Amino acid sequence: MSGNNPFDNAMAQLKKAAAYLPQTKELKQKLEILKEPQRIINVTIPVKMDDGIVRIFQGYRVQHNDARGPYKGGIRFHPQVSMDEVKALAFWMAMKCAVADLPLGGGKGGVIVNPKELSAGELERLSRGYARAIADCIGPDKDVPAPDVNTTGQIMGWMVDELIKIRGVKNKRDKEKLSSTFTGKLIKDGGSEGREEATGLGGLFVLQTVLTKLGKKGKLTAAVQGFGNVGFNVAKFLDEVGFKVIAVSDSKGAIFVPGGINPKLTLECKRKNGYLAGCYCSGSVCDLTKGKQISNEALLELDVDVLVPAALESVITKENATRIKAKVILEMANGPTTPEADTILYKRGISVIPDILANSGGVTVSCFEWEQNLKGQHWTKDQVNKKLKEKMQKETNAVWETSKKLKTDLRTSAFVVATNRILKAMK
Ligand code: GLU
Repeated sequence: MSGNNPFDNAMAQLKKAAAYLPQTKELKQKLEILKEPQRIINVTIPVKMDDGIVRIFQGYRVQHNDARGPYKGGIRFHPQVSMDEVKALAFWMAMKCAVADLPLGGGKGGVIVNPKELSAGELERLSRGYARAIADCIGPDKDVPAPDVNTTGQIMGWMVDELIKIRGVKNKRDKEKLSSTFTGKLIKDGGSEGREEATGLGGLFVLQTVLTKLGKKGKLTAAVQGFGNVGFNVAKFLDEVGFKVIAVSDSKGAIFVPGGINPKLTLECKRKNGYLAGCYCSGSVCDLTKGKQISNEALLELDVDVLVPAALESVITKENATRIKAKVILEMANGPTTPEADTILYKRGISVIPDILANSGGVTVSCFEWEQNLKGQHWTKDQVNKKLKEKMQKETNAVWETSKKLKTDLRTSAFVVATNRILKAMK
């Protein structure tokens, strides 16, 4: 049974894929091990607020599996963070790194906080406090965190700086090596070219590969739920390659612009106003007559070719799956579709490109960043994007071929590919 508990949903996905694996006793035992996180770290982070009062924040780091390499995965700052959510996200990271064939395992972190209510100073103290709290459990060959929902390159920079202080590292080259503990850093702190847009660009490469297989061509329409780093960049890349993006949203609501939004202008307008409503930017102007406000739920049910959930988990459920009109769903969020919804969508002939493949571009370039820091290199944006494109196309093809061979959906196939790789690496 599964509902909207993300960890239960993740386990239901694994169970479905497990039926396609060789049923030997040894593999079954390894599969049992893969179901549980190897380590769960529970931390409290005291932070001195601007008014002088100390507030205690609750944080987690879940280290799911390191059979293929160090634990890898972002840190989320969100009021709805919970242990079950972080456990699911850590498990999905293990699967994601395996499906992208990276020498990394899976982990995830989270802090229960609404960062929008913090001042810049409070955010910095919380970030440094979290890094201190998990410092013993992370490192370039142990666990390598990164940004996730509401965390940025700047936050990674504070965390690296804190770790450098804790370890007392002075030498420049040693600092650079230690900085590989966190990826998604700003370029000035040792970040990789292309990392900021990597999740969005990787998603575009995966989508283009699948659309070619499906024989879908011409001017396609898209709706994107979410307008954070991932949602914005996906919308930007889709627009650049000729899609008409007719709707985007943030946590406060969605906008519907039938003429197709201009993502960059929309972002500028949102930054200026603080919200998306009224930012009906199409072509080179923002004009109140060009669009209207709709709900986040309505966005998901728009009649578009491609629907892109790029916000949080469990937004496509058994309640709304029957009303989805898109032909292809590109999962840029982690866990946006529940298992019941998956079954409904599959029966309705809607192709769901699963999160662990669709959004693996981000961690792929994180892996490049880690490699560059460890080797003391800095690759050009062209080099990064070329390697990203090759990887996304190769792994999308592998998942596609598996789905044809097993006659099943893309998520189950991605899970089969990933699980096989992890089980092979397990001792
Ligand atoms: N938070 C991103 C994800 O869910 C990136 C993780 C990483 O770069 O390690 O894939």
